[in-house]
Order: sequence, then C-alpha cells, then structure tokens
Amino acid sequence: MGKNIESNLANTPHFNPLNPQEFRKQAHEMVDFIADYYQNIESYPVLSQVQPGYLRANLPQNAPSLPESLETSLEDVKNQIIPGMTHWLSPNFFAFFPSTVSTAGFLGEMLCTCFNSVGFNWIASPAATELEMLVIDWLADMLKLPKSFMFQGTGGGVIQNTTSEAILVTLIAARDKALDVDGSGNLNKLVVYASDQTHSTFAKACKMVGISPRNIRLIPTTIDAGFSLSPIQLKAAVEADMENGDHFHHDVDPIKLLAGVAKEHGMWVHVDAANAGSACICPEFRHHLNGVELVDSLSLSPHKWLLSGLDCCCLWVKNPTALVKALSTNPEYLRNKQSESDSVVDFKDWQVGTGRRFKSLRLWLIFRTYGVVNLQDHIRSDVGMAKIFEDFVRSDPRFEIVVPREFGLVCFRLNPDETFGSDYTELSNQKLLDWVNSTGRVYMTHTKVGGIYVLRFAVGATLTGDNHVVAAWKLIKEGADALLKTV
Ligand SMILES: *Cc1c(COP(=O)(O)O)cnc(C)c1O
Repeated sequence: MGKNIESNLANTPHFNPLNPQEFRKQAHEMVDFIADYYQNIESYPVLSQVQPGYLRANLPQNAPSLPESLETSLEDVKNQIIPGMTHWLSPNFFAFFPSTVSTAGFLGEMLCTCFNSVGFNWIASPAATELEMLVIDWLADMLKLPKSFMFQGTGGGVIQNTTSEAILVTLIAARDKALDVDGSGNLNKLVVYASDQTHSTFAKACKMVGISPRNIRLIPTTIDAGFSLSPIQLKAAVEADMENGDHFHHDVDPIKLLAGVAKEHGMWVHVDAANAGSACICPEFRHHLNGVELVDSLSLSPHKWLLSGLDCCCLWVKNPTALVKALSTNPEYLRNKQSESDSVVDFKDWQVGTGRRFKSLRLWLIFRTYGVVNLQDHIRSDVGMAKIFEDFVRSDPRFEIVVPREFGLVCFRLNPDETFGSDYTELSNQKLLDWVNSTGRVYMTHTKVGGIYVLRFAVGATLTGDNHVVAAWKLIKEGADALLKTV
C-alpha cells in the first residue's frame, strides 16, 4: 500500500509557481519589456487621455481558468494598460512632485522581492533589521543629523511606507507622551499646531489619533513671508491656548526659532521634510535643517527625490522609547530570546503594520553604487533645471513667479491684464493648464496659495533633461499665445 502511494506521488506533476528556469526566462523577457518602456516613454501622452471605466470594457470579465502566456498578457499591458497610465516616469512629467526611480533602486527592489523577508522582528530576519539600521544611520550622516537621531547615538530611525504613516506614528507617540505627562487622560486637552501650508495628511493623522478638529491650530501664513510659518504667530497661538489651559504639539519651517517656541512649552516637534529634505545632502542646502537638533522627529521620503521608487519614507526619532512604548505588541508567537533581552530592534514596534518588507536593500544599493557625490549631482541638476524654467518665466512679462523658488518647484501664473480682475486671471490660467495637459506633451498641475490660483512646474523626474524643460516652456508659451490672441 505505502509503496503505491509513494510511486503515485512521484508521478503527479504539481504546479510550481517558482521554477528557477522558468523564472530566469520570463524575468529576462520582463526586463526587456521594461527597458523598452523606458526607451519609448516619450511616445506616450504623459497624462492619460482615457475615460473612466475604460479598462473593464476592454479586458475579460473573469480570470481565465486555464493559463495564458506571459506574451499575451504583455500584449494587453501594451494595448490596454499603458494607454490608461499617466506616466510618472516620463521626462515631461512636471505635475505634483517628482517620484524618482533609478536602476539601483530597481535592482534593490528585485532583491527585496527575491527574499520576500517579512522582518517584523530581529529574529525573523536579522539582516533585514540590521541593514535598515545601518542605512538609516548612513542617510542621517549624509544629512548631517546630530548623533541623537542615530542608532550610533541615542536615537534611531525606521523606513515607513509613506509620510502619512510617519506622521501618524509620530503623533501617536507624541500623544501618549503628552497624556503621560498630563496624567488626566483627557484627549480634549491636547492641541496640535501646524502651518496652514501643511500637507493634508496631517489633519488626517490627527483624526486617526483622536485629536479633535477643534484642537488643530493651523497658523496662517502669508505671501509676503513666502508662506513660511512665523515663530511669532506660533508663540501667540500657543500662549492663547495656555491661557485656556490647553497644551501640546507640532510642525515646522524656520526650525530653530519654531522649535525654540515649542520647547518652552514642552511640545513634541516634528519636521516633515518629505520632498525638499533630500536636498540637504548638499552642503549648500543643509542650512534648511538648522535647528534640527532641537526637534523630536524628522521624516523624509527618498521615494520622492532620492531615487528609491515608491514607497520609502525615512523617519528618525530622538526618543525611540516613546515610539516603541506607544506601538509595541508582544504576542506569544513572536516571543524570542533576543527580543526579550532588549538587545535588538524589533521594527514592528516602530510602525502601523506587523509584517514589513526588506526595503533598505533599495537605499543601500543606491547609496553604495552611486555614492554621495552622484546623489548630490542629481539634486543639483534638478534645482538647476528649475532655475532655468524660473528664468524663462521671469523673462516673459505676461507671466509672473508667485512664490519664490527654493528647490525644484516653480509656482507661476499667467497674469495677462489685471484690469479684467482676478476671476479672469484664474480662468485664463485654468484654460492654459487644460490646453497644455490636453496636448499630452507635458503634464503640470495647479494649486491655490493664499487664495491665488498658481501653476506648478515640478522639475525632477529621473529622465528629465534641460531639453525637456526648454520644450515644456515653448509649449506653455504657445498656449499663452493662442489664449491671449482669442481675447
Ligand atoms: C508628499 C508629501 C506628503 C505626503 O506623502 P505620502 O508619502 O504620500 O504620505 C506629506 N508631506 C509633504 C511635505 C509632502 O511633500
């Protein structure tokens, strides 16, 4: 009997979803497909021109019961998926913010997927934890952060998925710390402060941690002060709250002065440097972090400007104990000698989720194979291109720069004739933006600052070169010519 079962088993051909020979063959095909995509990326409209619901109408309604080849699937990618993509990697993508990628980041991602380690604690994959601790210290060193933020010092850092999560976990740590100090357990007594220019994810995080909207103070900024948060205004807002018996936390701009005000009142200060923070690896931009030694936490997303690809947000904290205390769990099945002896870091206690990917491989390969000099060069060349664009705008009297440019983002607008009023100016800019984007040759977005409708030209997609910036400006001028002629 037993023998029969064994020989039957040996003859059953099982489905093997990870056959190394098949993997080698198909992965090579995929690499060719990807390299072709990068090579031809400029042939696609940057902003997708499809209508909502287009995809379901063009693909089968059910998963196939029998296998189909990779080739036919890739045909669908080419014919159905790609036309519905907005191409963030296009060199003509100037919308939102640049989401940068690189060969090294890509290869690191391949390794991360290759190992598929789920390193929630040290023992689950010691190298995953230890490499993350190493690269997060490397980046802290590149940014000249004080040792108090480094594992080598008294602090530490962690790779979160997004800034939103970094802000959420920081706010949880700050909340619990404030509640501990206060002793009343009354969430309603906690107040958070931020600039009115703060990213919308901040209000969302407040909601998630239970801070009442009544207790969120968004300090108004002005165009004259370049929309930066004023320490004097912050102080006034905090003092008004203190009179009412409130107390607590948060956010940034001229770090040193703001942190000074916040620290007088024992607040937790967080710096959200998601995008521009990466520039601080260059000595000429590092002054933007002056005063960082006074804050409690800082987050920065290499998936924006440091070539890592989505998603990768680095968060440093001076007091990891506060974070771990707020987020740690200790279920029986995760218990082990090393964790219990407190000799290791268990990153599950630094984040929302339990499982986590080995993402530090991406940063590690980027830092190692490019070196700091090339990363600095990459930042400088983007800032240089933004400067070129800014000079173009300044050279044409029909346009104006609305907010002084600091890094790779140019906020400008067409300002044809004030005598027609501000609604007319706004409408003209909307029309210009729609026209530019409808060509599929450039994609830009808009925002409102201080009530003014502005066009945003965000330079920094990995493949963007001077020629793309020149062509984009030519196109924008063409749009303005046509628009102003029809008046
Ligand atoms: C992009 C950005 C965010 C949001 O980042 P996610 O990683 O998408 O959550 C928050 N703050 C600032 C300053 C940003 O630039």
